Amino acid sequence: MTTDSIAVGERVIKPCRIFCIGKNYAEHIRELDDFDAKFQTKNEQHPVVFMKPVTSIVSLGESIHVPMHGNILHHEVEVVVLLNGGGRNILINDALSYVAGVTLGLDITLRDVQIEVKKKGHPWELSKSFDYSSPLGLMRSYDESFDLFDIPFACFVNEEKRQEGNTKDMIYSIPQVISFLSTVWKLMPGDLIYTGTPSGIGVIKSRDEIVLNSPMLGRFAWSVL
Ligand code: MG
Repeated sequence: MTTDSIAVGERVIKPCRIFCIGKNYAEHIRELDDFDAKFQTKNEQHPVVFMKPVTSIVSLGESIHVPMHGNILHHEVEVVVLLNGGGRNILINDALSYVAGVTLGLDITLRDVQIEVKKKGHPWELSKSFDYSSPLGLMRSYDESFDLFDIPFACFVNEEKRQEGNTKDMIYSIPQVISFLSTVWKLMPGDLIYTGTPSGIGVIKSRDEIVLNSPMLGRFAWSVL
């Protein structure tokens, strides 16, 4: 696991925290309901938020390790933004000025463990925040020449397309997410936000090859040990 630094353009930023947004694409909420029909997802007043330690980051060139404390390991491809700071109570209209970089990542999830902890009302960490749960692609510097509201992206496993999404389908846009997070946490340089996954989540296992691709962000590959 590489956790010391994230290169973005000429700069190197030390990762601070990983915020993750759940249930940010309607089709994915529908497929999750199939996994866990009891969990109510409608009419949320703010995004679903959880966190992962930066020690869960898997950089390019490293492998994803399969955790031993669950059985159903799922890929969730997500657009990830890196912040250059921001502080508290950021206005939605100012939020993009705090985005330093953008890339793709995976919010790897132990789905069987997640269903179990949800049923018990326990925290999600065992299902989401384990070592190797946050593969992270190379950051593209963000500037306003590219449109964060129309980023197509996809996830392939062993060359089969599993997930395809576009940030235009987000329920909470990237500025809305940044603004909301800043009402709870003082946003810091090096904060990462995994912005939610589209539909098509599925199982990954040892020896799988995972490729994330976006014409705007690049192509990033990892193997599962
Ligand atoms: Mg996710």
